[in-house]
Amino acid sequence: MTVESAVVEADLAAGRLCCPGCDGPLSRWGFARERTVRLLHETRSLRPRRVYCRRCEQTHVLLPAWAVARRRDGAEVIGRALLARANGQGHRTIATTLQRPPGTVRGWLRTFARRAEPVAATARLWTRALEPSADHPFTAGSPFVQAVDALGCAARACRLRLEITASPWELAVALTGLLHGRPRDPPGF
Ligand SMILES: [Zn+2]
Repeated sequence: MTVESAVVEADLAAGRLCCPGCDGPLSRWGFARERTVRLLHETRSLRPRRVYCRRCEQTHVLLPAWAVARRRDGAEVIGRALLARANGQGHRTIATTLQRPPGTVRGWLRTFARRAEPVAATARLWTRALEPSADHPFTAGSPFVQAVDALGCAARACRLRLEITASPWELAVALTGLLHGRPRDPPGF
Protein backbone atom coordinates (compact mmCIF):
# COMPACT_ATOMS: atom_id res chain seq x y z
CA MET A 1 0.00 0.00 0.00
CA THR A 2 1.39 3.43 -0.89
CA VAL A 3 1.45 6.29 1.62
CA GLU A 4 -1.35 7.96 -0.35
CA SER A 5 -3.66 4.95 -0.21
CA ALA A 6 -2.89 4.44 3.48
CA VAL A 7 -4.01 8.03 4.12
CA VAL A 8 -7.19 7.51 2.09
CA GLU A 9 -8.01 4.32 3.99
CA ALA A 10 -7.47 6.05 7.34
CA ASP A 11 -9.63 9.01 6.27
CA LEU A 12 -12.40 6.70 5.08
CA ALA A 13 -12.34 4.72 8.30
CA ALA A 14 -12.58 7.95 10.30
CA GLY A 15 -15.38 9.36 8.12
CA ARG A 16 -13.21 12.32 7.08
CA LEU A 17 -13.81 12.07 3.34
CA CYS A 18 -16.83 13.83 1.86
CA CYS A 19 -18.82 13.13 -1.27
CA PRO A 20 -17.68 15.32 -4.20
CA GLY A 21 -21.34 15.75 -5.20
CA CYS A 22 -23.14 16.51 -1.93
CA ASP A 23 -20.51 16.55 0.88
CA GLY A 24 -22.12 13.50 2.54
CA PRO A 25 -19.86 11.00 4.32
CA LEU A 26 -18.28 8.30 2.14
CA SER A 27 -17.80 4.64 2.87
CA ARG A 28 -15.71 1.96 1.18
CA TRP A 29 -17.19 0.29 -1.88
CA GLY A 30 -14.46 -1.96 -3.23
CA PHE A 31 -12.00 -0.85 -5.87
CA ALA A 32 -12.30 0.52 -9.37
CA ARG A 33 -10.43 -1.20 -12.19
CA GLU A 34 -6.72 -0.72 -12.37
CA ARG A 35 -5.61 2.00 -14.74
CA THR A 36 -2.41 3.41 -16.09
CA VAL A 37 -1.69 7.12 -15.82
CA ARG A 38 0.81 8.65 -18.24
CA LEU A 39 3.09 11.09 -16.48
CA LEU A 40 5.69 13.36 -18.06
CA HIS A 41 8.41 10.74 -18.34
CA GLU A 42 6.87 7.47 -17.17
CA THR A 43 3.60 5.69 -16.60
CA ARG A 44 2.23 4.75 -13.22
CA SER A 45 -0.45 2.21 -12.47
CA LEU A 46 -3.19 2.82 -10.00
CA ARG A 47 -6.01 0.81 -8.48
CA PRO A 48 -8.33 3.48 -7.12
CA ARG A 49 -10.64 3.02 -4.19
CA ARG A 50 -14.34 3.09 -4.99
CA VAL A 51 -16.60 4.72 -2.40
CA TYR A 52 -20.32 5.04 -1.81
CA CYS A 53 -22.31 8.04 -0.58
CA ARG A 54 -25.46 7.13 1.32
CA ARG A 55 -26.89 10.61 1.04
CA CYS A 56 -26.95 10.84 -2.76
CA GLU A 57 -26.73 7.06 -3.34
CA GLN A 58 -23.86 7.41 -5.80
CA THR A 59 -20.55 5.65 -6.03
CA HIS A 60 -17.41 7.63 -6.74
CA VAL A 61 -13.84 6.73 -7.58
CA LEU A 62 -11.15 8.36 -5.45
CA LEU A 63 -8.12 9.41 -7.42
CA PRO A 64 -4.85 10.85 -6.14
CA ALA A 65 -4.31 14.47 -7.17
CA TRP A 66 -1.57 13.55 -9.65
CA ALA A 67 -4.26 11.85 -11.75
CA VAL A 68 -7.10 13.72 -13.47
CA ALA A 69 -10.60 12.20 -13.55
CA ARG A 70 -11.58 10.70 -16.92
CA ARG A 71 -8.13 11.38 -18.43
CA ARG A 72 -5.27 9.02 -19.07
CA ASP A 73 -2.62 11.72 -18.62
CA GLY A 74 -1.52 13.02 -15.24
CA ALA A 75 -2.00 16.43 -13.67
CA GLU A 76 1.52 17.66 -14.53
CA VAL A 77 1.11 16.79 -18.20
CA ILE A 78 -2.30 18.42 -18.60
CA GLY A 79 -1.23 21.36 -16.42
CA ARG A 80 1.77 22.04 -18.64
CA ALA A 81 -0.50 22.09 -21.66
CA LEU A 82 -2.83 24.59 -19.98
CA LEU A 83 0.05 26.84 -18.99
CA ALA A 84 1.54 26.72 -22.49
CA ARG A 85 -1.86 27.62 -23.96
CA ALA A 86 -2.21 30.52 -21.52
CA ASN A 87 1.20 31.68 -22.76
CA GLY A 88 -0.09 31.72 -26.33
CA GLN A 89 1.01 28.36 -27.74
CA GLY A 90 -1.27 26.42 -30.08
CA HIS A 91 -2.37 22.87 -29.44
CA ARG A 92 -0.12 21.38 -32.13
CA THR A 93 3.02 22.94 -30.68
CA ILE A 94 2.02 21.83 -27.20
CA ALA A 95 1.31 18.31 -28.47
CA THR A 96 4.77 18.12 -30.04
CA THR A 97 6.45 19.33 -26.85
CA LEU A 98 4.55 16.88 -24.66
CA GLN A 99 4.66 14.06 -27.22
CA ARG A 100 0.91 13.57 -27.10
CA PRO A 101 -1.61 13.41 -29.99
CA PRO A 102 -2.83 16.90 -31.03
CA GLY A 103 -6.46 15.79 -30.69
CA THR A 104 -5.87 14.78 -27.08
CA VAL A 105 -4.30 18.13 -26.23
CA ARG A 106 -7.08 20.02 -28.01
CA GLY A 107 -9.60 18.05 -25.92
CA TRP A 108 -7.95 19.18 -22.67
CA LEU A 109 -7.83 22.81 -23.81
CA ARG A 110 -11.47 22.86 -24.90
CA THR A 111 -12.68 21.19 -21.74
CA PHE A 112 -10.75 23.63 -19.57
CA ALA A 113 -11.94 26.61 -21.62
CA ARG A 114 -15.57 25.63 -20.99
CA ARG A 115 -14.93 25.50 -17.22
CA ALA A 116 -12.59 28.47 -16.99
CA GLU A 117 -14.98 30.80 -15.16
CA PRO A 118 -16.13 28.49 -12.32
CA VAL A 119 -12.55 27.19 -11.91
CA ALA A 120 -11.22 30.76 -11.67
CA ALA A 121 -13.96 31.73 -9.21
CA THR A 122 -13.15 28.84 -6.86
CA ALA A 123 -9.39 29.41 -7.15
CA ARG A 124 -9.84 33.09 -6.24
CA LEU A 125 -11.94 32.17 -3.21
CA TRP A 126 -9.15 29.89 -1.98
CA THR A 127 -6.56 32.61 -2.47
CA ARG A 128 -8.70 35.10 -0.60
CA ALA A 129 -9.42 32.62 2.20
CA LEU A 130 -5.74 31.79 2.64
CA GLU A 131 -4.32 35.28 2.17
CA PRO A 132 -7.12 37.65 3.21
CA SER A 133 -4.84 40.65 3.61
CA ALA A 134 -2.86 40.25 0.40
CA ASP A 135 -3.53 42.33 -2.66
CA HIS A 136 -4.71 40.16 -5.56
CA PRO A 137 -4.43 42.11 -8.79
CA PHE A 138 -6.86 41.25 -11.53
CA THR A 139 -5.18 39.70 -14.57
CA ALA A 140 -6.18 40.85 -18.01
CA GLY A 141 -6.81 38.27 -20.69
CA SER A 142 -9.29 35.62 -21.75
CA PRO A 143 -11.20 33.58 -19.18
CA PHE A 144 -8.75 30.75 -19.95
CA VAL A 145 -5.71 32.90 -19.11
CA GLN A 146 -7.40 34.24 -16.00
CA ALA A 147 -8.26 30.74 -14.79
CA VAL A 148 -4.68 29.50 -15.20
CA ASP A 149 -3.42 32.58 -13.38
CA ALA A 150 -5.98 32.16 -10.59
CA LEU A 151 -4.96 28.50 -10.15
CA GLY A 152 -1.33 29.56 -9.90
CA CYS A 153 -2.15 32.12 -7.20
CA ALA A 154 -4.27 29.62 -5.23
CA ALA A 155 -1.54 26.96 -5.40
CA ARG A 156 1.06 29.47 -4.24
CA ALA A 157 -1.18 30.47 -1.32
CA CYS A 158 -1.72 26.80 -0.36
CA ARG A 159 2.00 26.15 -0.40
CA LEU A 160 2.80 29.25 1.63
CA ARG A 161 -0.04 29.24 4.15
CA LEU A 162 -0.72 25.52 4.54
CA GLU A 163 2.85 24.39 3.90
CA ILE A 164 1.56 21.81 1.44
CA THR A 165 4.34 20.42 -0.69
CA ALA A 166 2.19 19.01 -3.50
CA SER A 167 2.92 20.41 -6.94
CA PRO A 168 0.82 23.38 -8.13
CA TRP A 169 -1.09 21.20 -10.61
CA GLU A 170 -1.86 18.59 -7.97
CA LEU A 171 -3.27 21.39 -5.84
CA ALA A 172 -5.27 22.64 -8.83
CA VAL A 173 -6.80 19.17 -9.20
CA ALA A 174 -7.52 18.93 -5.48
CA LEU A 175 -9.28 22.33 -5.38
CA THR A 176 -11.12 22.34 -8.68
CA GLY A 177 -10.93 18.91 -10.34
CA LEU A 178 -9.14 20.77 -13.16
CA LEU A 179 -11.04 19.29 -16.15
CA HIS A 180 -13.93 17.47 -14.45
CA GLY A 181 -15.94 17.50 -11.27
CA ARG A 182 -17.28 20.21 -9.05
CA PRO A 183 -14.80 22.95 -8.02
CA ARG A 184 -14.74 22.93 -4.23
CA ASP A 185 -14.95 26.28 -2.53
CA PRO A 186 -13.13 26.80 0.78
CA PRO A 187 -15.22 26.12 3.91
CA GLY A 188 -17.44 29.07 4.80
CA PHE A 189 -17.54 30.61 1.32
ZN1 LIG B 1 -23.21 12.35 -2.11
